[in-house]
Amino acid sequence: MQKHHREIKIECTHCKNSKIVSFTNDDDNLYNNFKISKISRLNRIVFSLFCKKCNTKRPNIFLDDKLVFDQDNLKICSNCNLPISLQRLESLPGTNLCTASCVEKVDKISKILPLPPTLPEKEKIGRCGHQMEVRYGKHGWFLGCSKFPSCRNTKEL
Ligand SMILES: [Zn+2]
Ligand SMILES: [Zn+2]
Ligand SMILES: [Zn+2]
Repeated sequence: MQKHHREIKIECTHCKNSKIVSFTNDDDNLYNNFKISKISRLNRIVFSLFCKKCNTKRPNIFLDDKLVFDQDNLKICSNCNLPISLQRLESLPGTNLCTASCVEKVDKISKILPLPPTLPEKEKIGRCGHQMEVRYGKHGWFLGCSKFPSCRNTKEL
């Protein structure tokens, strides 16, 4: 079987300090560095990472040079409360699950966010004309367009 080399870069949003971890699909570098066994489980580390230089929380995560989560605009999995990756949202717009198998397995430890507020009736359609939904960012819950990441309309809650 061919080995695919992949790379995860973690970059501080404040001081730009960065760390690159490369791995092949069948080595355990991924587990040793991030305690996850699959790339699709990168969402498990979003809220725990911080910069060792300046202590800023939630650095940007890049997989093979592509940003994996928009830290200011996180669409949250309705099953496990962890963020859904931009890559998954691009290929499956409107999905509410972080991975296809998430619905089968609820990880109680990952229920780390405060409960989301309910979407007010009058805010259901945004000024962009699309359905809005409740999302999570650096400053807490807010409303974001359901067409995210292609539409970036947001509103404070
Ligand atoms: Zn930093
Ligand atoms: Zn999930
Ligand atoms: Zn929109």
